[in-house]
Order: sequence, then C-alpha cells, then structure tokens
Amino acid sequence: MKSHAKVVVIGGGVVGCSVLFHLARHGWTDVVLLERDELTSGSTWHAAGGMHTINGDPNVAKLQKYTINLYKEIEELSGQATGVHLTGGVLLAATEARLDWLRGVVAKGRYLGIDLEVISPKEAAELMPLLDPKQFVGAVRNRDDGHLDPSGVTHAYAKAARKLGAEVERFTKVEDIVRRPDGMWRVITNKGEVVAEHVVNAGGLWAREVGRMVGLELPVLAMEHMYLITEDMPEVADWNQKTGTEIMHAVDFDGELYLRQERGGMLMGTYEKANKPWSEFSTPWNFGHELLAPDIDRIAPSLEVGFRHFPAFQNTGIKQIINGPFTFAPDGNPLVGPVRGLPGFWVACGVMAGFSQGGGVGLALSNWMIEGDPGADIWAMDVARYGDWAGMAYTNAKVRENYSRRFSIRFPNEELPAGRPLKTTPVYDLLSAKGAQWGVAYGLEVPLWYAPEGVKDEFSWRRSSDFSHVGKEVAAVRDGVGLSEISSFAKYKVTGEGAARWLDRMLACKLPKPGRMTLAPMLKEDGKLIGDFTLANLGSEGWFLAGSGIAEQYHMRWFEKHLPDDGSVRIEALGASLTGLSIAGPKARDVLAKVSRADVSNAAFPFMAIGRMDIGMAPCLVGRVSYTGDLGYEIWVAPEYQRAAFNALMAAGAEFGIGLFGSRALNALRLEKNYGSWGREYRPIYGPLEAGLDRFVAYGKEADFIGKAAALAERKQGGKLRLRAFILDATDADVIGDEPIWFGGAVRGWVTSGGYSHNSKKSVAMGYVPKEIAEESDGFEIELLGKRHAARLQAAPLFDANFERMRG
Ligand SMILES: Cc1cc2nc3c(=O)[nH]c(=O)nc-3n(C[C@H](O)[C@H](O)[C@H](O)COP(=O)(O)OP(=O)(O)OC[C@H]3O[C@@H](n4cnc5c(N)ncnc54)[C@H](O)[C@@H]3O)c2cc1C
Repeated sequence: MKSHAKVVVIGGGVVGCSVLFHLARHGWTDVVLLERDELTSGSTWHAAGGMHTINGDPNVAKLQKYTINLYKEIEELSGQATGVHLTGGVLLAATEARLDWLRGVVAKGRYLGIDLEVISPKEAAELMPLLDPKQFVGAVRNRDDGHLDPSGVTHAYAKAARKLGAEVERFTKVEDIVRRPDGMWRVITNKGEVVAEHVVNAGGLWAREVGRMVGLELPVLAMEHMYLITEDMPEVADWNQKTGTEIMHAVDFDGELYLRQERGGMLMGTYEKANKPWSEFSTPWNFGHELLAPDIDRIAPSLEVGFRHFPAFQNTGIKQIINGPFTFAPDGNPLVGPVRGLPGFWVACGVMAGFSQGGGVGLALSNWMIEGDPGADIWAMDVARYGDWAGMAYTNAKVRENYSRRFSIRFPNEELPAGRPLKTTPVYDLLSAKGAQWGVAYGLEVPLWYAPEGVKDEFSWRRSSDFSHVGKEVAAVRDGVGLSEISSFAKYKVTGEGAARWLDRMLACKLPKPGRMTLAPMLKEDGKLIGDFTLANLGSEGWFLAGSGIAEQYHMRWFEKHLPDDGSVRIEALGASLTGLSIAGPKARDVLAKVSRADVSNAAFPFMAIGRMDIGMAPCLVGRVSYTGDLGYEIWVAPEYQRAAFNALMAAGAEFGIGLFGSRALNALRLEKNYGSWGREYRPIYGPLEAGLDRFVAYGKEADFIGKAAALAERKQGGKLRLRAFILDATDADVIGDEPIWFGGAVRGWVTSGGYSHNSKKSVAMGYVPKEIAEESDGFEIELLGKRHAARLQAAPLFDANFERMRG
C-alpha cells in the first residue's frame, strides 16, 4: 500500500468505486480506494440492481440518465460485464391523482431529454403482460429502465479505474482519520497509514462510523429492505419465447411495489409502511456478506396488492426472500460534497439508489474535487442542505417517513409531519393561536398561511382550501398592512478590519454606505450565481447579510473557504439567535411610527435605509425593504424580545386593520413584482445577466470580485438564457415549478416557480427560456397537468412597476 496519495476513497461499494473511476478518468490517478473486505461488502452485493431515470428533482434525474448511459463505457473500458438489461419499464397509476403526477413527470422529461410517454392501461398490459389493466387508470412508458448485475458494475468501475492508474486495496480497514497541522489527512488502517490531501467517505452502511472518525455526525440511517424472487413462471417463459424479450420493469406506485424479471421468474420488492431501521446507532464492523431474516408479515399488505394487480403471482411459489440494509438521508437523496469546516474531507454517502445515481455522484464529486465546482446543479444532493439540527433522532423519524412514502404522492401543498416541530421561534404559539398552518425550512417551523377554525389544507394539484384565505392575507398587505414572520432567513454578521475588503471581493455588488442596504449577488469563478443577499452596512458594528435560510450551511462553507488566514475577517451565522418580523403595505409606516420614537418618515428613513430603533420596548434592527415589493420593513430582533415586538406591532396595527400573512401570500406578492428567489430562480447554473440580477452587479467596481471576468464575458456574449415572467391562461391550477415552456411547437424552457397572484388576479409563472425568444410577447405555452396553456410574457411587474409604493 502506498504511503501517500492525493485522494483516499474509503469504501468499495458501487459509490466508492464510481468516485475512484471518475477521479482517474478526470486525470487524478494518484488515488487509492481502501475497502475493509472484498468489494461490494456493504449494501451493494444484495441489491436488486434496478435502474431508472425518474427522480423528483430534475437535476438528479439528469445525473441518473448519465449513470445509465455510462455502463456501456465502463464495460468497454474494463472488459468486465455489467449485466445491463435495458428492458424499458412501465410506471403504473391506479388513481387519477397518481396519473396527474405521472403527467408532470412526462412533462419534465421533455426538457431533460428523457423519453417518456403516457399510455393507457391496455397499452401497458400489452407491454407488461403480467399486469391486470382493470386495476389501473393509466401508465407511463420509460425506455431507459432496466437492471444490471450489482457486483459486475462495481467491479467494472474498479477495473476501469485501475486501468487508468488508480489503486484498490482490499481487506484494508480504515480505523481512524486524523488531520495534520499542515492540513493533510492521516488515514490510519489495519495495514498502516496513508497520508492524503483529500479523503472521500463512501462508507455506505458505515458512513456514520467513518464520519465520526472526524467528529461528524452524518444524517444517514440504514433501513431493512425486502424483495422476493419467485419460482419460474410459465407466463414469463411464454412471453420470452413469443417476443424474444424479457418482461419489462414495472413500478406500481399505489401498490408501493417494483417488479422485474429474474431468470425464469420475477422479482418483486416493496417499500412497506411498517418499515424497520437497522442498526440505529452504529453499524457493526463484523457485518459483511450477510442477509437479515426475512419478515413476510411486514410486507404482506403490499404483496396482497401486488398479487391482485399482477394475478400471475397467485399461481407461483416464492423461491427466496432477500432482506438487506441500505442507507438513506432524511429526504432520500444522497449526501455529496465537501464538508464545512473540514477542508479536504468529502462525502459520497446516503446513496439509496446506487445503480441509478452512483455514476452521477462520482461525476459531480470528481468535478468538485478537481475543478472546484460540481459542474451541475446538485443542490438536491449537497450535504450542505442539512445542518446540525439534522441529528440522529430527527434523521430516524424522517428516514422512516421517507421510506414509507417512497412511492407515495407528495402534493405541492402537502407538509410532512415526521421530526416536527423541531426548531420554533418565540412567537410560534401566538401564531398557532391565530390559525398558522406550518411548513418547515432548514428545520425551522415557518407559517405558510392562516386558517380559520375548522379549515385545513386539502392536498391537491389544483387550487385548494387555502386559496381564498391566502387571497385575504394578500389583500391585507396591498390594501393596508400585513405582518409576517421572517426568522427563516439566514442572517450573518461580518466583522473585523478586513471585512469591507473581503466583502468587496466576495460579493458582486457595490458596497453600501453606513446605514444603507443593497441587493448583493454572489458569484462563483465561472460567473454563475452562488448566492443572493441583502447586504447592510451597520457602520462601526460591522456588516449584516440576510439570505436564503435553506442555504445557511451551503453559504457558510463558501464564506469560510474564502476567509483570509490572518484573522482579519470574522463571519458568524446568527441562526436562531436573531429572529425576524416584517410589516408591509401602504399603512406599514403608520404602524412603525406608532411603536417607535425614531423618525421613520420617507426623508429620514428612505427605501434601503437600515438602523437600530426600539419597537415598543424591544430593541430592534430595522431595514426598509420588503420582499412583498411594497412599502415595508424587515425587523430583526433577539429572540427574547420577539414576542414584545410582535405584540407591540399587532396592537399598533389594530387601527389600520393589520393582518397576518404567511409564505404562500408572500409568494403571491413577490410574483407580481417578478422577484425571484434562491433555490428556484437563482441557482448555481445561471449567470446574473440570465437571471436578471445584472443591474446589481458592479461590473465597473475596482475590486476584482470572484467571477468578475466570467460575468463580464457573459455580459459581452449575452449568455444563453433569460429569466422571464409569464401570465398563464389557467383557471383552477397554477404552476409549481419544473413545468416545460413551449414555443413554436417545441419545448424551449422550464418553469422555476409560480402561483396565483391574488392581487393582480393572474396565474403567474417564472422560468428560463433561450435569449433568442425571450423578447417574444406571445406564442408561449406552459404545460400544466398534461395540458398546454397559452402564456403571455409579462415584462414589467404587474404591481407597482414604477416603484412608487415601494420607494414612496
Ligand atoms: C435489498 C436491497 C435492494 C436494493 N435494490 C436496489 C436497486 O434495485 N437499485 C438500486 O439502485 N439500489 C438498490 N439498493 C440500494 C443499493 O444497494 C445502494 O444504493 C448501494 O449499494 C450503496 O452503495 P455504497 O457504495 O454507497 O455503500 P455500500 O455498498 O454499503 O459500500 C460501502 C463500502 O464501504 C466499505 N467500508 C465502510 N467503512 C470502511 C472502512 N472504515 N474502511 C474500509 N472500508 C470501509 C464497506 O465494507 C463497503 O464495502 C438495494 C439495497 C438493498 C439492501
């Protein structure tokens, strides 16, 4: 074993081997994979080997497609058979709601290049002869589905990597990982030590244990998972003989089942409701090529549905039931990327669909390690989407919920209850008493809307029970004054003698003067967005940044990576130590004037001013800005004063008819201003020109801010895309995000977000289209629930296009 390497990859499952292969293919060949046993000794060896392109997140779906296309290449490179059977598959719907969901999947596939088609139950039965068409209302055909040999694929990655110069050390168990003062990692094994610049934790079932070696508690949990294999079936033999093809894959969402041919019989697996975690606290090191005891009672309810939906199963025997563990993150997507606070330590774990996702994970991680950027929008897999709040008990609750809902529909207005409430602010019970319906962002409860007694969300793809109530919240803001809780923003304090210089380099905007704020896009070296903030200059107190709450860990990782070594700049994420309230609407100033002795007139406290003032008795930091696009204020307050500030504002607002509004009303309000938001319109694949944020980029400022050269180049060339707002001809449903935008009979773009704008009484969609068609006012269509709706470009904001309300 070598004593030094650029990279040590820990774990020889499908994921570790893919990472190794991708690093070597990308040119880093001084890389070694350490495996405590034989390759595939975790969950990899007993997998069912199914692969598919469908994923709730379109960016992950793209990487799944990449993974499936890769198998031919690694087979050729390695000379090792992967056993790929590209049978195609049918995704089955037994209810109309499921078929609506499938129509959305097909629509997304259009701009992802995934070939999907809605078919009737009869057509499905012609393709997959074991199903009973009477049990279904529709289906989708997917040509990319198939299965493979899990061991063959893993060895093919490893052999291909070796051919490119990488090394694999089997029976080498990593026992500890220690960071040296010079930043290198000592990887200590039962066979000696390797010193490495980078370490990748691809420990699969033992990813938690490997994480703990460096003081990291990763939010992963293994679950038991069962599939059965039948005796040979005459129906299978007949079909094979008659058509010369295998039986196609099937996913029966309502039965919570997946099926494929296995030799002369069938394999049927299920994500049962009565699920069971495995080794909840730590994974035994002596677990290897072992299976767990099957428990047919647990999966019996799903099998009953399966035997009804696929009647041929009633006449065959079960040859074997496989029960094995594999790991999940709380939301079921992988945990990939660099870990904040541990330079050179990377993770590639929590991969629950290693044969659909392993290739994409390896590609993204190797790009990230070598180029400094994953090269794709992998937010849905980024380890930084979780913070310390995602501890072991939370992970346990969420993984169990996610497992049991693996094939369930999640409606756009559906909030999942497990692991909640976890983080709450001091006004939580006050807002609950007013009917707050709660959602969650980065572990924190956030008010979505306020329901009258006896009303709650009815889950639907269409406008639902909240519609008129959200409309009233919007009206309270636009006609008078509304109050919302904004604690879910991420808040940062930047101090130190080098703070201004550092911010000037980190952010693309011009720095504001003391007592002023500005919108602050943050770019990567490639000129694409990595953040957008409100930056405030608090004079001698330092600087204050407010940004997307879900991206706190993501942004702190970026900030800390770029901090100077000399200690001249300090940045702190304020988290729950600072809470927020906001008031907005034409009467907002009247309310503020009543509760504060500060001069809040437009002359003294204009748009984008910020300053300290008491609200009632509560000391607050107040900024004159509002995401509603109205006259409004953001009020930052220590948690111990939040109730006092809230009560003071509500009491003062009573005479102006103050109303509470939640994030759904806020969405309706920002849409009629064409305001985008981080994670939807603003993502790391769009440049500021494309995203319409270039007016906040100080291209001419002296500081050489990160991404300046690339952003200037984009400005010169014009970029490729443009973010646009559209008015949709829709009557009972609104876009959610990820719907295709048609133009001239072809899919040319995609929706990023949207909804009903109650004040303007319009269905609004925001999305990206190629710049060549971005000025066309007509001719667009947006596909919603399987139908194309005419869409008109809305260049100017529907509300307050001249900023009179906002600045007045
Ligand atoms: C019953 C079942 C059916 C499944 N069906 C499918 C399917 O159809 N399709 C699909 O895509 N996925 C399926 N999966 C999931 C799939 O198995 C996983 O996604 C995949 O195996 C994850 O691979 P991995 O490399 O992350 O982890 P693992 O396979 O667990 O590999 C981790 C490796 O790291 C090694 N290791 C850990 N710690 C150390 C250390 N300290 N030192 C050295 N080595 C170490 C382990 O020995 C192990 O070999 C199924 C899983 C099960 C259990």
